[in-house]
Amino acid sequence: MRKKAVCYARFSSSKQREESIVHQLEKITEYCKTHNLTIVGQYIDEAQSGTTDRRTNFQKMMVDAEAREWDYIVVYKMDRFSRSVSDALHYQKLLKSHGVDILSVIEDFDSETPEGGFFNLITMGMSQLYVQNLRRSVMAGLLQNAKRGMATGGIPPLGYDFDVNMKLIINEYEAETVRIIFDMISRGHSYRKLAHRLNEECRHTKEGGPFKANFHDILKNRKYIGEYVYNRSIPKRSDGKRNTHDSKAEFEIVRLPNAVPRIVDDITFYKVQEILRQREHNHRHPRLKSKYLLTGLLQCEVCGHSPIGNVTAGGRNKTPRLVYVCKNKINTPCHQKDFNMANLDGVVKTFIKKYLLAKNKAPELLIILKKVLEDFRSHSAIKMAQMSNRIEELDKDINVLVSQISDVKRSMERIIIDEIKGLEKERNNLFIQYRALEIDLSNLVKPTLKSIYETIKQANDTLDNEPKNVLRNFIDRIIIGNSGVHMILNSGPFLSTEPLVSKLGFDVSFPHEMVRKVKYVEWEYDYEKIVYKPKKDSKVKLESL
Ligand SMILES: [Zn+2]
Repeated sequence: MRKKAVCYARFSSSKQREESIVHQLEKITEYCKTHNLTIVGQYIDEAQSGTTDRRTNFQKMMVDAEAREWDYIVVYKMDRFSRSVSDALHYQKLLKSHGVDILSVIEDFDSETPEGGFFNLITMGMSQLYVQNLRRSVMAGLLQNAKRGMATGGIPPLGYDFDVNMKLIINEYEAETVRIIFDMISRGHSYRKLAHRLNEECRHTKEGGPFKANFHDILKNRKYIGEYVYNRSIPKRSDGKRNTHDSKAEFEIVRLPNAVPRIVDDITFYKVQEILRQREHNHRHPRLKSKYLLTGLLQCEVCGHSPIGNVTAGGRNKTPRLVYVCKNKINTPCHQKDFNMANLDGVVKTFIKKYLLAKNKAPELLIILKKVLEDFRSHSAIKMAQMSNRIEELDKDINVLVSQISDVKRSMERIIIDEIKGLEKERNNLFIQYRALEIDLSNLVKPTLKSIYETIKQANDTLDNEPKNVLRNFIDRIIIGNSGVHMILNSGPFLSTEPLVSKLGFDVSFPHEMVRKVKYVEWEYDYEKIVYKPKKDSKVKLESL
């Protein structure tokens, strides 16, 4: 009895030379005649890449094979069947379990014999190599273009045009827009405010429209510091979908410094990256908008969550009472006691008003700030050394993993790449923090009595109208717990005009007793510990703002 066969032919869209479907089918038909096979069906996939498994008719063929109605799949060439050794072996094993064998016109082998199987493997191995080579040569071509600063397609980013050779050149008017964008974000303005200003000035996007409050892609674009990045987008997964939130591992990306004319300086660019990182962080850990003065600044000493303002009815008269309460009570109970809101607000306000924003305290503040600054510098030096050691370590680890990639099985490749990406993420975050710290150090302004007076005056001027804003500017956080209240002040406003990156703090402590009952206190500064403590037996009346 003549054995039955189906044909499988595939044609990919890429420009490489290959046999047409018609040609493949002709050869297969010829082959079947000489080998005494009856063709009972054909499966054809067109214009799809051989590296993915999303070949619709191939998949259908694999399913149909289970019915055992035919004995062979005949292909013109093994690389039409699969271009990866591991996939081919996988499918071959599967087919074998349904009693189906693969035959190739070009690689005429019998996979029943050891020689056939071996030849099979080698041939497919070569196909895989071929695909990798192809990728490499495409990449090389793109790299060549990138090196010449040429575009690899698409519209140029805002701030650039293409010249006649498709090389990126600066569009001066748009470049000005880009500089405004980076400048405003580096000074802490919101996307919305930025969009408003740009539209007011009748500036426009690359597409010619008004700006919407989304500048993320522009702010992340490394072309603005002259870097040409190619091959960042992630390849399709085996199911043919693309994960747009992901990006390739760093070693797969081509980065060429100084390949594009620069629009933004490094300092501004890295400062913006740090701000974006922090905004993302704040987005994940939002501070509540609240009518209560200290909500958002408070942190529970017991569980770390943010206490919020609340009204409780307690006591004999059931009179409503305003308290700060750890909201974590709602889910997993936190046994932190409520804090009387009026007392806590009063203590904090009094301190800020009498010790931080008071002209007569400026000389004392100057000494404290100098000490804080000194501490920050020596601490930063240590931290930066640690960071740069860690970056070096990570670089080494990444290099080792990258060198292993070519040796491992394909199934392992993804795992290693994911690991590399994890390391790279840590490395890049560290690098941004390192640069930010470096820039911050160089930007720090040495405080003087005059500058302190100015800061105090400015804060006092806005204190009445926007007490919450002023407090948020000067207070980093207030940790409340059973032992008392611990406030971490932010000295940034005194030290530089834009306290964006570093939080230079010094501490204030209030004993629990004070917030609960005692309303008379005076603080003194402990220069050794950089902390304000209530003076013993002091009697100063609490004042409200
Ligand atoms: Zn708590």
